[in-house]
Amino acid sequence: MCLVVCFLSNGCGGNKLESLKQQEKELSHTLDSLNSLFTKADEELNNIPVISKATVEAGDGLFQVLVRMGIPELERRQIVLALQDSVEFSGMRVGQEFYVAQNPNADPGKQVKAFRYAANPATIHLIFRDDQTGDFSYQLVNKPLTRRHSIFQGNLEAGSTLNKMLFQVGIPGRMVGVVSGVLQCKVAFQQAQPGDRFRILLEETFYQDSIWISGKVLYAEFEGRTLGHHEAFRYDDGDPKSSYNAHYTENGEALVFDGLRYPLDRLHITSTFGNRIHPITGQRRAHQGVDYGSPRGAPVYAVAEGVVVTSGYDQYSGNKIAVRHRDNSTSWYLHLDSRGVSKGITVNARQMIGKVGNTGRSTGPHLHFGFTNAKGKWINPLSKTMIATPKLQGERLAKLQKQVGEVRNHLQLAEAETPQLANDSMDVKVKMRFLEP
Ligand SMILES: [Zn+2]
Repeated sequence: MCLVVCFLSNGCGGNKLESLKQQEKELSHTLDSLNSLFTKADEELNNIPVISKATVEAGDGLFQVLVRMGIPELERRQIVLALQDSVEFSGMRVGQEFYVAQNPNADPGKQVKAFRYAANPATIHLIFRDDQTGDFSYQLVNKPLTRRHSIFQGNLEAGSTLNKMLFQVGIPGRMVGVVSGVLQCKVAFQQAQPGDRFRILLEETFYQDSIWISGKVLYAEFEGRTLGHHEAFRYDDGDPKSSYNAHYTENGEALVFDGLRYPLDRLHITSTFGNRIHPITGQRRAHQGVDYGSPRGAPVYAVAEGVVVTSGYDQYSGNKIAVRHRDNSTSWYLHLDSRGVSKGITVNARQMIGKVGNTGRSTGPHLHFGFTNAKGKWINPLSKTMIATPKLQGERLAKLQKQVGEVRNHLQLAEAETPQLANDSMDVKVKMRFLEP
């Protein structure tokens, strides 16, 4: 700190300016928006800001970054207040850069002159302190983006995973999880077969034509030999914050983005749903679920968000947990070694709720996983792929159907331009891109 102060007060404007210009040069590609500040500094050499930079590390929140930049507590709070309504900091990613311009000669609590956060190379959040009032004002800089639509399609191959196939047809790494999530809303991939076909329409935005900024899955299609034909369309409600922005069927039935997650890390079915001879009683009876073989102690996860309606023990089920979901279906997890959640609490999809065990009437460590529908009837858990949510209706349904029409036009246009896309032969694997007209 002393070094900075000495340097700033040595009175030789030329050196200060040189150094400032050097600093500016080094940072110029990311600091264009701070130019006004530098110009001002030229005039008032006593108020030269010191620019420092911090990079987001794993586990960081805004607060940690501000602490690392050496910003005092009072000003940390001012910055958070100035940004919190405009910036979604839950989207912070490792490697993102923050810049702060501080004037160590200013009064305590007023030393931060400007603060800059680039959510991506084209979306920059800035705050500047007004020297008169001492308050921060917020400014959003959106640089122009190019928008591109791309179609990807392929066939599932034996021995490959869905994610691998999505990578293989060229879907960008950051979109693979999203695409696979949309497909899994509609399709129980445990039952997918080699040769089953998928087709994806993405809308992506790029900065300077090459830097990937964002992507949306406008359309996902699956054609399975046994699973049948499924389509999902992205509905845009017009407001980016609308909770209706999601994927739907053509008729407006919502598909929950998360779909159902797996209850275990490794799935090895040892007994399926339906009639069987019970391994302990020897009687023929319906098996109301699926058994997954698993080592004792392996984590058991909730397959979707919901409320724990049962967390207890009985001599048949052993330690058992039941989670009721939004559509009033309930997932059941039996024979647990230990239970990690109690009745009444809300759990997220994929939250760990217990550990695999061998409690109750059980011949070895395994998870018995069951599902009851809204009426309490046992259903085959493998046939349940999503938690249903209400349908779009009225104006929203009309808007969705207009958007469905646009997607179909895109697909037709692409097929007309690229004949092999229309060809349904099993080994077609094409990707194509076309620019927004
Ligand atoms: Zn069982």
